[in-house]
Amino acid sequence: MAEEQLIPATEQKETDMATLTPEQEMNPWDAQAARFDFAAKKLNLDSGLWKVLRQPCREIIVHFPVSMDDGSIEVFTGYRVHHSVARGPGKGGIRYAPDVSLDEVRALASWMTWKCAVVNIPFGGAKGGVICDPKKLSQGELERITRRYTAEIIEFLGPEKDVPAPDMGTDEQTMAWIMDTYSMHMRQTVNAVVTGKPVNLGGSRGRTAATGHGLAVVCDEALKLLEMPVEGCRVIVQGFGNVGSNAARLLADKGYTVIGIAEYDGGLYNSNGIDIHALVEYRKRTRTVTGFPGAQAVDKDELLTYECEILLPAATENVITSHNAARLRCRILCEGANGPTTPLADDILSDKKIFVIPDILANAGGVTTSYFEWVQDRMGYFWTESEVNQRLDHIMSESFRDVITYARNHQVNNRIAAYMLAIDRVAYTTRQRGIYA
Ligand code: NAD
Repeated sequence: MAEEQLIPATEQKETDMATLTPEQEMNPWDAQAARFDFAAKKLNLDSGLWKVLRQPCREIIVHFPVSMDDGSIEVFTGYRVHHSVARGPGKGGIRYAPDVSLDEVRALASWMTWKCAVVNIPFGGAKGGVICDPKKLSQGELERITRRYTAEIIEFLGPEKDVPAPDMGTDEQTMAWIMDTYSMHMRQTVNAVVTGKPVNLGGSRGRTAATGHGLAVVCDEALKLLEMPVEGCRVIVQGFGNVGSNAARLLADKGYTVIGIAEYDGGLYNSNGIDIHALVEYRKRTRTVTGFPGAQAVDKDELLTYECEILLPAATENVITSHNAARLRCRILCEGANGPTTPLADDILSDKKIFVIPDILANAGGVTTSYFEWVQDRMGYFWTESEVNQRLDHIMSESFRDVITYARNHQVNNRIAAYMLAIDRVAYTTRQRGIYA
């Protein structure tokens, strides 16, 4: 069934959000709160639950010293925010970046609550961050930052409390250090305290590529829904890190044509398709995508406005805004990153009838496989990669259909449908548990 038949374009606009100031548009927490308010109003959520679910339940800020390689001492700032633990332990990544802020971590934590609820897994939402530039730090410095940050927030972590995972600037090695530091303090190995670990430390097969895998599944579902063929389906990906490179590779393997890659230091374009496997090898060797011989160098920001069937931002927040949304020429926007689109841009995308697969649905493959990892660690029994991926395919396809059905039944756009579905589920659990006072 074609998308226009499901949702009349006039019903898709989020007009209440037009009141956002330019600063609020670019502040992820304000953007998240505006969407929450809009969805909560549509749900007629009672005012008490509205207040409970709108705020994070716990915010931790730590300033901690680390010995640097040159013998000096630096003090770093880290955050861990629990947005909701109503449906289960807090779950969410840890980000290392120079511009991490409390508002960003708050927004990311609340998106985790909604994301876990959209795919209906028994976790709440949490997120962490440390202000640092991992590209400028040695392995030794990164290890010392990670261990000390873990020690500072240790009483709030645990398989039944809060289970971190990788995010921008962190990887399976970071998770191994967190797991070891936590285990040393507990005097026993506790591998279920983090997910996204190396497989030999209790990680799940399939976890590294899981977010990309989930993105490929929802792209397939969107093509089926919109009656578009895979053959000739052109894709542009922004960000060639964990999420973007795996999504690009898996889509290319399925027969999609990846024509553009936008990275921090430059863009690549080839109308006949970029050899993604070769680009992965090239990036590993040179630590950059620039200079790759199989494509032409183009402006990384302009590349987002090139004609394609699927635009897949997989880098960071606020890359599709009221400033560039009108110039997008994609049919589908599939959000690999968290919060890549501002609320004001959403209205413009609705006018252009761009089919949006919102972040809290599209990139949920990572947390879903993290859930599988946590389950396997607690059972002490590990699944094959194909068992993991089969379960992941099932959850992603079912969640895609849940959101589309919700959008159709409530005459709202896909993003608001995903928020409404999630808020409804978290509100139901919160109401059933009652307020302890
Ligand atoms: P990563 O650090 O592995 O990769 C991010 C890549 O984006 C890097 O290569 C970086 O150079 C590039 N980048 C940063 N800013 C850019 C810009 N302005 N233009 C072009 N490229 C830019 O991080 P990741 O784990 O792949 O995460 C990417 C996004 O996906 C983040 O928003 C993250 O929160 C989200 N996400 C990650 C996961 C996961 O499992 N890792 C799951 C869900 C969502």
